[in-house]
Amino acid sequence: MAKSPEVKLAVFGRAGVGKSALVVRFLTRRFIWEYDPTLESTYRHQANIDDEVVTMEILDTAGQEDIQQKEGHMRWGDGFVIVYDITDRGSFEEVAPLRSLLEEVKKPKNVPLVLVGNKSDMDHVRQVGTEEGERLAAEMACAFYECSACADEGGAVAEAFHELCREVRRR
Ligand code: GDP
Ligand code: MG
Repeated sequence: MAKSPEVKLAVFGRAGVGKSALVVRFLTRRFIWEYDPTLESTYRHQANIDDEVVTMEILDTAGQEDIQQKEGHMRWGDGFVIVYDITDRGSFEEVAPLRSLLEEVKKPKNVPLVLVGNKSDMDHVRQVGTEEGERLAAEMACAFYECSACADEGGAVAEAFHELCREVRRR
């Protein structure tokens, strides 16, 4: 039997945007309110994507690494989820620099990427408009999802991870 393809995915974004909550949601379909913010973990997960079994290794970064550690994670990964929090403009402003560093580290390869605006359940305290997210994703030529790790209606979280796998497999 052919070995199923393996993809290495790393999740980046400022501390507190909900990276761990998103990963746990994707893996368990549950929401965990409090998650050790300093923890960095990797998970293995198999999913059937377009009739193919894909094994993912997912690195949930802590978001407070120094530049060398960030670059190491970037070299390790095949594809990347960059997360910001729609209620935290600062986290949105950290997306472009992360993307630049990725391009730099992966040069001359084109980097498979998805952009995720998390905490869409907190619309009443939103600081980043949906159009702004869409515009940034268009500039970065990547898919964009607004979603909520705690109220994941419609499965946008899984869709973001699956789309990233497809993007990696297309390269
Ligand atoms: P990380 O530092 O990026 O891994 O962020 P965490 O996953 O630890 O989440 C940081 C905080 O945001 C925690 O208090 C979570 O409960 C909260 N959080 C994460 N995702 C969501 C979400 O979609 N909606 C809301 N309202 N809170 C969230
Ligand atoms: Mg975390």
